[in-house]
Amino acid sequence: MSTITGATPAIRNYSLFIDGTWTESRSGKFVDNRNPARIAEVLGHVPLALESEVDAAVDAAERAFKTWRRTPAPRRGKIVAAAAAILARRKEEVARALTLEEGKILRESRGEVERSINILDFIAGESRRFGGETLPSELEYNFCYTVRQPLGVVAVITPWNFPVAIPCWKIAPALVAGNTVVFKPATLTPLTASLVVEIFSEAGLPPGCLNLILGSGGQVGDRLVRHPAVRAVSFTGSNEIGGRLYAQGAERMIKVQCEMGGKNPVVVLEDADLELAAAATAAGAFGSTGQRCTATSRAVVVDSIADRFAEAVVQRARAYKIGNGLDESVDMGPSVDEGQLRTVLHYLDEGRREGARILCGGERLYGGEFDGGYFVAPTVFDHVGRGMSIAQEEIFGPVLSIQRVRDFDEALEAANDVRFGLASSIFTRDCNRMFRFVDEIETGIAHVNSGTVGGEAQLPFGGIKATGVGPREQGTAALDFYSEVKTVYVDYTGQKRQGNLY
Ligand code: NAP
Repeated sequence: MSTITGATPAIRNYSLFIDGTWTESRSGKFVDNRNPARIAEVLGHVPLALESEVDAAVDAAERAFKTWRRTPAPRRGKIVAAAAAILARRKEEVARALTLEEGKILRESRGEVERSINILDFIAGESRRFGGETLPSELEYNFCYTVRQPLGVVAVITPWNFPVAIPCWKIAPALVAGNTVVFKPATLTPLTASLVVEIFSEAGLPPGCLNLILGSGGQVGDRLVRHPAVRAVSFTGSNEIGGRLYAQGAERMIKVQCEMGGKNPVVVLEDADLELAAAATAAGAFGSTGQRCTATSRAVVVDSIADRFAEAVVQRARAYKIGNGLDESVDMGPSVDEGQLRTVLHYLDEGRREGARILCGGERLYGGEFDGGYFVAPTVFDHVGRGMSIAQEEIFGPVLSIQRVRDFDEALEAANDVRFGLASSIFTRDCNRMFRFVDEIETGIAHVNSGTVGGEAQLPFGGIKATGVGPREQGTAALDFYSEVKTVYVDYTGQKRQGNLY
């Protein structure tokens, strides 16, 4: 029985937010924003903004920068703290909007909003520590110190899979560091993007400090990145687009930070607590329909325990209740759109064709409410070879590939044998191998005896290899990308004299 409660919001035409004002796009062109659990349900119409509207947003941000950069950092932080309080008050409304347009289940949406509140709280606090350092000079009566200064107008370009948390973890440090922002969210998630902007505005952010542009990435996103007044780009999304933006940024010598795909492994050794490992693997593989950058997409398992491990994961996969994420009893929602569903189905075919063994799932779900949405069954492939596409490429769906190995050394080698490097985990009780794993695994985030997903606001987040370029996001590291260091030498001898000669 369905346990969906609460009304669906009225269909709306989304607006742009430029210079502190919600503005209708003049393009007259729209695409539908739909609920992936009920494709027939249109939530709103997303304008495909004009390039001239991008220019207007950048101009507004450039004007606002002049005053915002002089606003003391603790005062900037107070506005971010106020945004955290408003988001906490509107938590349920934002979580429902997130489930409606992205499809993740309500429990996960609430978790994402909670994480966003933590991020805003943390960064607001950092505003009081946003400074440089003092260092001794080689010379008498000389004083040396550093200050951190903002960059100017920053472009924030985000994906659809964490449409509240990712904008918060980029916009908040950009603002606290004294920059102004033009925000271009994914076209699939305009509702949550509009709510995030509305909350910052309600928190007292002056006009022009945060502007929202909606529309095609290839058009308005491209225009934004190429705009001469944009001094930095913070991007999260696919490798294909991230690679392009990084090259464009290099041509203009501006800062670009890209967080991209993953192919995250869980390594399970013979002495692991198998129940713990299976539960964490299933949660990491099927949670959020596998649409997390940190999703567990591979389990690298020592042969002697692989059968028992696989059985325990399959048991959990079969117990998943699939459906509309607004139904509180559901465990997994749909893929976000038809394109993503097709990608998942493509890899299910590839896995079969390449000779991996399907233990459960492996198909699109039909019948009843499934016919109205993009639902796929949680899938486990076993005996996946290292070279297979399902072992190498990001699927972004509820699909787990089990790779069997002889021992710890081979497990480490297999875990590292991909081009990505975001998150990883190991299940073992052996301290030596835990620490060797942490030393040698090629990922930006490593877990011991817990799954690959999750992240806390005060800790840096990001990947290595093909996953990430540029400084880390979140934690205190977040402010590094959004500021430049200026080194200051003050001579207070009051007289001309010979200093050092270099
Ligand atoms: P995407 O297709 O690369 O899109 C990301 C953003 O870039 C969207 O706002 C998109 O706009 C915009 N865009 C597209 N083409 C552009 C262009 N030429 N110039 C400027 N902007 C452009 O990625 P996605 O499908 O939304 O997100 C899924 C990917 O994000 C996965 O690979 C996932 O692993 C990755 N991800 C990584 C992390 C991490 O921290 N490592 C976190 C979350 C997600 P449109 O929507 O209008 O196309």
